[in-house]
Amino acid sequence: MADAAVPAPSGFSGTSAEEAHRTSVVIIGAGPAGLTLANVLHAAGVGCVVLEAESREFIEQRPRAGFIEEWVVRALERHGLADRLLERAERQRAFEFRWGGERHVVEPGRFSGQSHFVYPQPLLVTDLAAAYVDAAGGDIRFRVRDVRPEGIDTDRPSVSYTDPETGVRHRIDCAYIAGCDGARSVARAAIPADELRISRLDYGIGWLALLAEAPPSAEGVVFGLHERGFSAHMARTPEVTRYYLECPPGDDPANWSHDRIWRELRARLAATGAQPLAEGRIIEKTVLDMHNYVVEPMGYGRLYLAGESAHLVAPIAAKGMNLAIHDALLLGRALGTACTTGDEDGLARYSDACLRKVWQYQEFSQWLSDVMHGASSGDRFRAGTAEARLRQLFASDAAAAAFGETYLGTATDIETL
Ligand SMILES: Cc1cc2nc3c(=O)[nH]c(=O)nc-3n(C[C@H](O)[C@H](O)[C@H](O)COP(=O)(O)OP(=O)(O)OC[C@H]3O[C@@H](n4cnc5c(N)ncnc54)[C@H](O)[C@@H]3O)c2cc1C
Repeated sequence: MADAAVPAPSGFSGTSAEEAHRTSVVIIGAGPAGLTLANVLHAAGVGCVVLEAESREFIEQRPRAGFIEEWVVRALERHGLADRLLERAERQRAFEFRWGGERHVVEPGRFSGQSHFVYPQPLLVTDLAAAYVDAAGGDIRFRVRDVRPEGIDTDRPSVSYTDPETGVRHRIDCAYIAGCDGARSVARAAIPADELRISRLDYGIGWLALLAEAPPSAEGVVFGLHERGFSAHMARTPEVTRYYLECPPGDDPANWSHDRIWRELRARLAATGAQPLAEGRIIEKTVLDMHNYVVEPMGYGRLYLAGESAHLVAPIAAKGMNLAIHDALLLGRALGTACTTGDEDGLARYSDACLRKVWQYQEFSQWLSDVMHGASSGDRFRAGTAEARLRQLFASDAAAAAFGETYLGTATDIETL
């Protein structure tokens, strides 16, 4: 049974490490999952401390996601966390495929009424950090070192870390630990290996992820399906556009000069009637090896995993941050109940509830990867089946509606989040 009565220490805010040695929940990681969870717990009156390895400036500038599904936005809105997002984000419900030199627009949003909200991850992280630290006086310790969850299978877990300024080690005793520390999670590593099953899918494909200081050259999202390799254009802001170019896994970004990038983008995104690409300075250039994984179950003892510590979906389908926030909202509700009433039913159901959506999105990512990379696979069979899927998507409203149902997300019952 839970040590549900661990109270939020009174006056426990600010960033003074010496003060706090006990709280209800220690959250490791201040990405979208950790910050969402911190806001939800704080609003429920549950004491928490967030431990983050990087500085606040760093997490507020780290570029990554851009698309947030509407049901996630509505759930954040319900928690009072979406004001700026709703004010500033563009909405998108159509996608353009460039294939065989032609443009094909699919508008799945007209069937479900759902949209993608275009809101760069750094802006969302900035909003979530401001809501928790500046507005609510929540406690985040930035740039902490050597974070170690301990006693996770006892009813007295704790998390220790080294203060970056003083080098002094601190220990925070707590009732629960939330591992929201991303793909290289120390929280996950603290769980005995034989208590977890980790399933992984490697696509054997790399993507050169680019941010260009250039205005978008099309409305919204464009996918280029080409035998030279997949490419994509995604409007981020009026001044910045995200591009992707398929490349060999492990490729060195230095192999991609400014000229080579723009030459390749022009070739792969060429289509009759398409607007010429507006070129600009490349401000981010990273090679991502496309892979997915799922950790089951998403917790052990008093430690629960949320977001990329538990599952990674390659950015092919723009799902990772949506799932991370979904986990955080479910975990926030379950931990809130456990800490205030002692009822751990929600915690017992947490992993299964998250994994249903995780597997649904993994399946979609795999499907979409086959469609996007068929033309460049060098395998006539894979190219042929990808073409068949595309023709069906372009010709059939039912296929477009089904595509939209998972790509844009369905109107989830957000009252439960
Ligand atoms: C190029 C790209 C584009 C993407 N586009 C989309 C998209 O459009 N839509 C979408 O939904 N998703 C997208 N994603 C995925 C999305 O960015 C991630 O799924 C999301 O960041 C996961 O959030 P998280 O909170 O689980 O993990 P993270 O964002 O990784 O946050 C984890 C935090 O934990 C901290 N941390 C790590 N280790 C420790 C430690 N030992 N101690 C303390 N702190 C620690 C890290 O510094 C970090 O701040 C994209 C990803 C990439 C790379």
